Amino acid sequence: MINRIVDLSEKLANKKKDDPDLLERMEVAAKGQSPRFLLISPIDRSSQDLQVLDMRMGDAFHATRVPGNALPPAGESPVLFGGPASYNRGFLQKRGVIVTFDSHESHEIVRESLLNVSRHSDLSGLPIIALRIDYSSGSARLEPHSYGRDYEGENWVLSRLQRPDPVDEDYLVLICSDSRVHPPPTPDGVPMAIQTLGGYVPPYSAGVAESQQLNEFFEKWFESSHTEHRILVIMHGSFRGDGPPCGAAQASLDPDKVSNDRLRPLIQKLRDEASRFEVSPSENAEDRVVALASAIKENLLSYPGIQAYSERDQLIEIAFMNTVTNIVAALRD
Ligand SMILES: [Zn+2]
Repeated sequence: MINRIVDLSEKLANKKKDDPDLLERMEVAAKGQSPRFLLISPIDRSSQDLQVLDMRMGDAFHATRVPGNALPPAGESPVLFGGPASYNRGFLQKRGVIVTFDSHESHEIVRESLLNVSRHSDLSGLPIIALRIDYSSGSARLEPHSYGRDYEGENWVLSRLQRPDPVDEDYLVLICSDSRVHPPPTPDGVPMAIQTLGGYVPPYSAGVAESQQLNEFFEKWFESSHTEHRILVIMHGSFRGDGPPCGAAQASLDPDKVSNDRLRPLIQKLRDEASRFEVSPSENAEDRVVALASAIKENLLSYPGIQAYSERDQLIEIAFMNTVTNIVAALRD
């Protein structure tokens, strides 16, 4: 199955060569990222959000919410929400936080999620754009709230709405929050995606809200009628030639240099988890993400909701994506 994703990513990269805007973005991406938005999406709508909001390479740094659940406070969602939000603080051109909800999600989910976004100290001062989206038509309406708002930004976002490709629920992608890497298209649309720092997912822990929510998500997904359940762990960096490394992986080479006190423990965790699969500590981000991918795969299998299906062939596969071209490779070149 990975081969089809690889082929599709190559075709898409070829198409990009005819798009002057994307070519320019790729040039900028080769030097770094400076996203304007932190985008918090439900797992099943993560890829579609980038399309519906026309967020192109470099526009949005991504965090993740488990669909059907309110976004927990940062301390109860350190990996899906807290970490990416803290990392986002370092971007100079940040302009706001966009939080999306599916049309059927309850008012209570919206209310509690926005409250927890507003309470994250690394997001303080940033306006929140809350959208309830109808993904079948590509329309959206604003959810009013009493935290900071940016009416100009809201109008700009609403003016760009477009209908997304269908979501292919056979595929779940784990990929970095990095604004330059987008989940790759699948044979039938765009995948569901968990976007975190380095694509990292922690081992199952019954006492942590995000862990419980993730486990329930996995349970529901495997119990659904889908014939295939494919999990792709996609690490990114300078694979297949030149390209900038994964910033989170790079930081994990020397976590003590991370000045943000709320971010440092997570970066340390990435290092500690990756080191279980390293003979000696990695000296570059490309080696680090290879080890981290193994840790992520092992962590996924610790969720009871996945464990029961662990014997399936090709349930979890690891792939690599070039940060700039977004071309996917099955094995490291
Ligand atoms: Zn990254």
